[in-house]
Amino acid sequence: MDNARFADLLASGCSALGVTVGEDVGPRLQRLMAELLKWNAKVNLTAITAPEEVLEKHFLDSLAVLPEVTGATTLLDLGAGAGFPGLPLKLVMPTLGVTLVDAVGKKVAFIKAAAASLGLTGVRGLHARAEGKPETEGIPRAQVLIARAFMDLPDWLGLAPAYVEEGGRVVAMLGKAQPDAELQARAAERNLRVVSARSYRLPFSGAERQVAVFAKG
Ligand code: SAM
Repeated sequence: MDNARFADLLASGCSALGVTVGEDVGPRLQRLMAELLKWNAKVNLTAITAPEEVLEKHFLDSLAVLPEVTGATTLLDLGAGAGFPGLPLKLVMPTLGVTLVDAVGKKVAFIKAAAASLGLTGVRGLHARAEGKPETEGIPRAQVLIARAFMDLPDWLGLAPAYVEEGGRVVAMLGKAQPDAELQARAAERNLRVVSARSYRLPFSGAERQVAVFAKG
C-alpha cells in the first residue's frame, strides 16, 4: 500500500472511530506494519497479513480504545501477541510507559525489535506467563491494564485485578458485545464494578467490537 493510501485510510478510519492522532503517527504505523510483515514472513505472529486488514484489525482497533486509556501514565498489555493494542497506543501517547507481556518468546522478541526500530522509549517487552502472581512473575502493576483477545471475560476479570495499581482500571477489548447485565454480573462476581462499556464497529469491515472498563469496588 502506498503512503498516500495508507494516510487516507488511517484518516478515514480514525474519523469513523472518533479518535484523533498526530501527523507523525501514520508514518510510524507504516513502519510498524513493514516490521510486522517482514517478521511474519519468517515467524508466525499474526494470521492477518493483508495491509488493509492489518491497518483495520490491528492498528485501528487498537486506537479505537484511546478514550479508555487517555490520562494513564502506565499501561500493561497482557497477552499482547505482536503488540496489540499496546504498540499503536504508545505511538499516539508518547509519554505512556507501556509493558507488553506475552508467554511466547518470539512475539516478545518482535515487540522489542519493533520498539527499537521505531525508536520508542518507555516500552518494555516481557516474556512471562501471567497467572495472577505479578511479583513472582516479574510483571509490574500499572494504572491501566488492558488485553485484547486474551481470555474469556470471567477468566480475565479473575486474573486482572492483581495487576492493577490502587485506583487503577481494567480494560477488556471484546470480540463480541456482551449485554450490559452480563457485564454487571461478571464484574460483581469479582468484586469489581463496570465503569463504562461501549460497542463500536471497525470502519471498513463493519465488524463489531466492545470495550468495557472495570474498577475495584
Ligand atoms: N492481544 C493480541 C492481539 O489482540 O492481537 C494477541 C492476542 S492472541 C489471541 C493471545 C496471546 O496471549 C497470545 O500471543 C498468547 O501467546 C498469549 N498468552 C496466552 N496465555 C498467556 C498467559 N497466561 N500469559 C501471557 N500471555 C499469554
